[in-house]
Amino acid sequence: MSGIAPFPSFLVERYRIWREENFTPHQADYETLASGQNPDVMVISCCDSRVYVADILKARPGEFFVHRNIANLVPPFKLTDDYHGTSAAVEFGVRALEVKHLLVLGHAACGGVQNCHAQCSGEAVAADDYQFVKQWLNLMRPAFDGLDKAQNREAQVQAMAQQSIVNSLDNLLTFPFVATAQMSGALTLHGAYHDIGRGILSVYNPQTKHFEEL
Ligand SMILES: [Zn+2]
Repeated sequence: MSGIAPFPSFLVERYRIWREENFTPHQADYETLASGQNPDVMVISCCDSRVYVADILKARPGEFFVHRNIANLVPPFKLTDDYHGTSAAVEFGVRALEVKHLLVLGHAACGGVQNCHAQCSGEAVAADDYQFVKQWLNLMRPAFDGLDKAQNREAQVQAMAQQSIVNSLDNLLTFPFVATAQMSGALTLHGAYHDIGRGILSVYNPQTKHFEEL
């Protein structure tokens, strides 16, 4: 039995171009990378295909430890027998790799945020049909509560996306090893929001508690 298909030819073609244009001219750099990773930055971003983390922040291989999930959410610290992919990534990044910066990167036009906003507004949404997405997006619900409901939907969705980033940063601090590293000054936490259509990155200012465009 095998449900596994042969590797797609268009990906074979792309790989060969990468090997010729990227690997061969820089083979020594790649051989050095093979000896181990030592990234200073961990990024938690959305799975969305438009969030091209390494491109936006000009990262080279080996520089960023990246974890992606639906809507760049971090759950609170919780030890159970379930499978905690995000928590495991945070644990490895902070404890084993000892990253110096941990960035939660949200983005505009996030389907996860739009679905959760609609759910919280009492509308039937696509996520209702999904077994895992719906439960996962429940993590974002607290970001809906403080919204200015007089604002139009677009403004509310952006505010919800940004508040969710702040909530994820707060949740990170419920992990004892994150709190310890942050208290000692070994680790700093950051939030940012990328609007791909405008090419704008907004970063969270902990003093003003607002996202400010760079
Ligand atoms: Zn997204």
